[in-house]
Amino acid sequence: MKLLLLGAPGSGKGTLSEYLISKHNFAHVSTGNIFRKVIDENLEYADELKSYILKGLLVPNDLTNKIVKQELGELTKKYTNIVMDGYPRTIEQAEFLKNIFTIDKVIYLNVDSDLLVKRLTGRRMCNKCKKIYNIYFSPPKKDGVCDNDGELLFQRKDDDLSIIQERIQTYNQTTFLLIDYYKDKGNLIEVDGALSTEELHEKINSILR
Ligand SMILES: [Zn+2]
Repeated sequence: MKLLLLGAPGSGKGTLSEYLISKHNFAHVSTGNIFRKVIDENLEYADELKSYILKGLLVPNDLTNKIVKQELGELTKKYTNIVMDGYPRTIEQAEFLKNIFTIDKVIYLNVDSDLLVKRLTGRRMCNKCKKIYNIYFSPPKKDGVCDNDGELLFQRKDDDLSIIQERIQTYNQTTFLLIDYYKDKGNLIEVDGALSTEELHEKINSILR
């Protein structure tokens, strides 16, 4: 099964990917982890890629496409289950992907923006044991302090409200177009991103069957 996950930041794509990897033996394809691999293992395109990443520049579409193609070629030799996350990001990339790889199902995790904002701005982390809390949904027993070790909890810089609103807006402007694109192709499955973990897993298992 070849899956593509779509959803805003905070929609739970990361957690769902982890579930697919650990329980259903999926290979996870995101541009972030592919780029890291190309550079770490000094694969083809590594120097070209570094010239953008080290300068903090956006990697151009055609280079991204070439690298994704190379990686998918490798992965499809080893894995029958592949989940893509964060690629394609544009219609142009989706059109490219269509010619080299068949996506069976597109899972769109739909979460309303109030819930997204609470999930992201409510996140607090413990530096010591790395436990993650959410002040709205899974707060520590004592405000601002880790249950495990009493460390002060902190908020990641990019979980700040203005940054989050910007991330959601960027998402709305770009990725949202892909939802319509795949809806038209007829293989989009909309999943309620507000489901509990158990409900979500059950839903995913029924999709995989
Ligand atoms: Zn802790």
